[in-house]
Amino acid sequence: MDTAPLQTPLQFLKGVGPRKAADLRKAGLHTVEDLLFRFPRRYEDRSRLQPIASVKPGQMAAVAGEVLSAGLAATRRPGFKLFSALVQDASGQVQVVWPNQAFLRDVIRPHQQIVIFGRAEIWGTRGLQITDPEFEILPAATDADAADAMPATLHTGRIVPVYERTGSVTTNMQRRFVHQALELLPAALFDPVPADLTVREGWPSRRTALAQTHFPDAGTSESDLNRFRTPAQRRVIFEDFFVFQAGLALRRQQNAAVRKGLVCRVDDRVRAAARAVLPFKLTDGQKGALAEIVADMQREWPMQRLLQGDVGAGKTIVALLAALVAMENGFQAAFMAPTEILAEQHYRTIARWLSGTRFKVALLTGRVSKAARRPLMAEIERGDVHLVVGTHALVQEAVQFQALALAVIDEQHRFGVIQRATLAAKGLHPDVLVMTATPIPRTLALTECGDMEVSVIRGLPPGRRPVHTRVTPDSRRDEVYALVRAAVAEGRQAYVIYPLVEESEKVDLKAATAMAEHLATAVFPDLTVALLHGRMKGDEKAAVMQAFAAGSIHVLVSTTVVEVGVDVPNATLMIVEHAERFGLSQLHQLRGRVGRGAHASTCVLVYQAPWSEEARERLKAMAETNDGFVIAERDLQLRGPGDFFGTRQSGLPQLRAGDLTRDADLLELAYNEARRRVDDHALPAPVRDYVQQVWQRQFGLIAVG
Ligand code: ADP
Ligand code: MG
Repeated sequence: MDTAPLQTPLQFLKGVGPRKAADLRKAGLHTVEDLLFRFPRRYEDRSRLQPIASVKPGQMAAVAGEVLSAGLAATRRPGFKLFSALVQDASGQVQVVWPNQAFLRDVIRPHQQIVIFGRAEIWGTRGLQITDPEFEILPAATDADAADAMPATLHTGRIVPVYERTGSVTTNMQRRFVHQALELLPAALFDPVPADLTVREGWPSRRTALAQTHFPDAGTSESDLNRFRTPAQRRVIFEDFFVFQAGLALRRQQNAAVRKGLVCRVDDRVRAAARAVLPFKLTDGQKGALAEIVADMQREWPMQRLLQGDVGAGKTIVALLAALVAMENGFQAAFMAPTEILAEQHYRTIARWLSGTRFKVALLTGRVSKAARRPLMAEIERGDVHLVVGTHALVQEAVQFQALALAVIDEQHRFGVIQRATLAAKGLHPDVLVMTATPIPRTLALTECGDMEVSVIRGLPPGRRPVHTRVTPDSRRDEVYALVRAAVAEGRQAYVIYPLVEESEKVDLKAATAMAEHLATAVFPDLTVALLHGRMKGDEKAAVMQAFAAGSIHVLVSTTVVEVGVDVPNATLMIVEHAERFGLSQLHQLRGRVGRGAHASTCVLVYQAPWSEEARERLKAMAETNDGFVIAERDLQLRGPGDFFGTRQSGLPQLRAGDLTRDADLLELAYNEARRRVDDHALPAPVRDYVQQVWQRQFGLIAVG
């Protein structure tokens, strides 16, 4: 297989010196392949340059000519300068103006050949001009080196790719490099995409696809190109997805081999045991999800499943029943939560649910004393403890298990490829069940989360009433306090949440503390008000949380430590201060802390002006719907997929050409095709090798196998 030309380092291209190579590296471009898989940002049809004399005001103009004169001119507005150039072709002249770009004086000079794209308009007494256009200086014909590497037809007289600038590498240079790179490719280029698919989809060959993606033939629809819908582009995007998905599928297959011995069996005895611990009737949604999970646990390869269910949907019992299946098969299970508060809450619930069984549950958090920890670890290692509940870090890093068959990870949609690799590195290949209330669009589940399959619990347990949400300005705080009084008078409890962001942590913490004090002394002197925040010691936090759960605190003022998972059904009022500062999914999580029992609940989003348009949109969405799926979709629209998880995950596969939103259909196709071919052992050996190579290179430590 000849993949060598694609692996040529970029320094070997003409014109790429050390400085440019470094800039390209910074953008993740090391090899010819990297460069070719980096799509243009957009395309411009420059095949029809027009004579300057034909330019009409109000139209986009595409002209080429010689710069006759160029210079900076002051305007009447102090400090505001115009750079303007007079450009001439055989038919006439036109004035071209760039507002406020003084640096152009070092770029655009008389006698240069220039191409201009921009809007033509009539400007006062100056007559026709083209304002603030895109431009490109054409190489001087005397520059032999440039002229030979860069025929004029690359930049004009054709449909031209426009690239994102990379440090010192301009779009012009990149166009030149890409052109050179394409010339390096042999006619018979190795192609990882199965031929039958290429034929079925009507795609061009790999080499043609890459060439057409960067330098489309004349006549290719500019609008198709700019929507990345041409067969050539889709072929390249598909390859990107396919190689990634094939790598995931191969890894899954290889994991199955190491995992033998952890496969569960479900018979009548196991089913009876599950029924015995069941504290209530499962909803249909819960039953469906449990069936999918248990089916996975009976297969030879490790489960990688995301359990989605809106806040309050009842994910915990589903996971516990899965854990019970593992334990009934003689294996261990681990339950990991993102915070100590949540781990402790799970521990209490689970210990209660399992109290009638022979299984031993242990809690493992930072609060467990060193003295107590050692014997506990020993018990886990011997297999005397069957279920460990703890925080992510502890369970992942510190513990040795005897036979860990199931790892449940709660409220952590970032648990992806890397974390599973950590488990695998410890020789653990448990079934992994990740639970989240944030509905993750399928495209993201297939990539950002690795290769997870998704189960969804639709609907809520019976008897729940939707939370009533209102958006209230800070100035009407009295009404909010009246709601607190009314709730407490009926025997209910309330949360008051303060934002806490790292950048202004001190100020935020002070605000929350001051608020707690103000509420306790001035507003509700007759009620019990307590404060909870992330900086408190574990013991203090646990004490406050327990008191709130027991009903002895009326009003809990808190920073967002109660954001996820906390379950106190008697709390029916959620007040979010500075709601304009929270993200949508965070607000939805917070609102999910109420409406968990039989009583009607209210969520009040208190905002302080001025608020941004986006904040207004967010609060509006919250007031309009209680549906987590709708909220997640709105969130995705408002933030874009790159930022869906708040921060971009580090170390996870970065796709090169594909865009998860735009190309969702191709991702789905790649997923199905790769899975099927790998599972049927139908992937040719050279393709397998290639996939391994790409993974090794692109994803490093999480390489296949
Ligand atoms: P989440 O999906 O947000 O983690 P939980 O697992 O905390 O939700 O469940 C929310 C509440 O609903 C808990 O108090 C739980 O005991 C209760 N619950 C879960 N499933 C059912 C059910 N099928 N019937 C009645 N109550 C249920
Ligand atoms: Mg939960």
